[in-house]
Amino acid sequence: MRTLTLAVALSCVARPAAAQDPHPTFKVGTATATRGQTATGAIKVPQGADAGYDIPVAVVHGAKPGPVLAVVAGSHGSEYASIIAVEALITAVKPADLSGTLILVPIVNIASFEKIVPHVNPTDNKSMNRFYPGAPNGTQTDRASYAMTKEVVEQCDHLIDLHGGDLDENLRPYSYWTVTGNQRQDDVSKAMVLAFGLDHIIISADRPKDPNASRYLENTASTRGKPSFTAEAGRSGPVDQGDVALLVKGVQNVLGHLKMTATRPTPVARPVWIERIVNLAAEQDGVFHALVDRGAHVTKGMKIGAVTDYLNRPIKDIVAPEDGVITFIRALPSLRKGDTIANIGVIKKGA
Ligand SMILES: [Zn+2]
Repeated sequence: MRTLTLAVALSCVARPAAAQDPHPTFKVGTATATRGQTATGAIKVPQGADAGYDIPVAVVHGAKPGPVLAVVAGSHGSEYASIIAVEALITAVKPADLSGTLILVPIVNIASFEKIVPHVNPTDNKSMNRFYPGAPNGTQTDRASYAMTKEVVEQCDHLIDLHGGDLDENLRPYSYWTVTGNQRQDDVSKAMVLAFGLDHIIISADRPKDPNASRYLENTASTRGKPSFTAEAGRSGPVDQGDVALLVKGVQNVLGHLKMTATRPTPVARPVWIERIVNLAAEQDGVFHALVDRGAHVTKGMKIGAVTDYLNRPIKDIVAPEDGVITFIRALPSLRKGDTIANIGVIKKGA
């Protein structure tokens, strides 16, 4: 009798809850998708001190309810492999096969993409991954960041920000795992990073903790309690399809890990954990000659490049200050004082 009463009580509670869909439609910017549909549209960046523009967005609203994952690329509009990967996902992920919602933003920094300008938005000369959570009354980058925070970050449960080697960077694919200090959240994001599949993972323990000064897109999501991460693949210039494939597969793996699709990923068993990045910057203008490629393992004191003047007279040898792996190295001879020559990842021992 007691069992029967309990069963009746459960069914009364459970039935209306199961029938209620929290998102019969899902709207991001002007894109409104009903269940089982992919909709496209734009996140409007209004005009302000400078011009407004549209950030293209696709919303894949799964046939069944589930988590909301946002995947963003092109904050740096010439990091092409990551942009092409998100473009590919718009058609590759079918709403009929999806439980939950996938928000896809392939190019945040349209001006950079159109004008082929690395690192910054040429409209206001700001990096589009340093001014989050943004401001409604700032320059274009501030207003775009604000729109991304409102439309994408606040509506998702998880976010993956994709980057890659910019025009002047040959980059070895890796993910960043941010340690927020919230153990439960960090466990979820760590599992997502391992499911994604890149075998080199940089541990970010020094990212901002203040949601009102989050600076980076991923931190804007993480500081709002949404387990998220950043991944990078792609090298200078033309698109390397191998890098694109890594990012596409990575997102599909995370969709499977979050039970949003039927994919069952195999997490990376023995990742290389990078505990710290040593940044080598140019001390003077000159011509850069790289002597190692992305992913090379270097030892302290090893010559990894050289700088000459414009008449090929030696100025400086570039030497690795520590043992590590080249996460990226300058891809172009053009070198101005302050430019990054290489990033060396210091590998965590015994990890
Ligand atoms: Zn980037």
